[in-house]
Amino acid sequence: MLLPEEVRGNVERALADLGLGRRIETSVPVAGGCINSGARIETDSGETLFLKWNPSSPPGMFEAEAEGLAALAEADVLRVPTSFAWSDEATASWLLMEFIPQGPSNHEAESALGRSLAKLHAHRGNERFGWARDNWIGSLRQRNTLSEDWGGFWREHRIEPQVAQARRAELVRYAVFDVLLDLIPGALSDVERPQLVHGDLWSGNRFVSDHGEPVLIDPAVYLGHGEVDLAMSELFGGFGEDFYDAYEDVQAIPSAYTAYRRDLYQLYYLLVHVNLFGGAYEAPALRAARRIVSEVG
Ligand code: ADP
Repeated sequence: MLLPEEVRGNVERALADLGLGRRIETSVPVAGGCINSGARIETDSGETLFLKWNPSSPPGMFEAEAEGLAALAEADVLRVPTSFAWSDEATASWLLMEFIPQGPSNHEAESALGRSLAKLHAHRGNERFGWARDNWIGSLRQRNTLSEDWGGFWREHRIEPQVAQARRAELVRYAVFDVLLDLIPGALSDVERPQLVHGDLWSGNRFVSDHGEPVLIDPAVYLGHGEVDLAMSELFGGFGEDFYDAYEDVQAIPSAYTAYRRDLYQLYYLLVHVNLFGGAYEAPALRAARRIVSEVG
């Protein structure tokens, strides 16, 4: 999509304020985004930057993304682009950030990502589960209400709202989802320490920089359980054995993950897909729900 004039004007004013130029000289579309339009831009002062925009994003979406990127950067375990400026104006919202050139992926980069992610998950505080603000998963609001209890959080702020939304669209009407909701707090009762998660770790949200470093983009961060990222990485694939081996070298993966937590965490993303893309994801969501109930119930 061509860069809208309103966005161009606002970004050019921001560039001037930041001392990064006065005009966008070139704008080359970058494919791969699910929700927004993106481009590599060059300014008249020779800066190369990444710009994403959306003519109808919900208010606060890009600010939440910039804050999420900053939280990942603060953990200081892997590369994330620095955000320079953003606007969440209704008709012309955009986020301007550092452009990180991509390099080839290889075994070493996969291992580096696995190690870095495990270190990210070890980055924890004494805080509660959740996040100081809500953010978005795709274009769906993700509630991050601070909570003492992980199982309660996963039920109330992850699974339940997605089930409710799907049911409004006459999907996932099976009783197994009600049974499952009641099982969640008990099933997750032994997760005690909040861990920083990326929150939307599919293969499109990671790449390797031209210097061989693992890069993460487009997060939906909160303090939760690191296995959520592992489960998402496995849901649609694209992460190699080196990634998982390196992760496990830093952080053991307990048997409860493969027994039922992977399904319980993947179920959230499956329900998000039901709500974003429709009924094709209903059958895998139902299968996951049945497996969880038979394992935990
Ligand atoms: P969306 O919010 O629409 O999902 P993304 O943030 O995933 O968009 O970005 C879309 C694509 O743009 C990514 O798959 C990646 O290839 C590229 N990209 C995103 N951020 C950067 C960046 N800072 N530097 C270089 N390329 C980027």
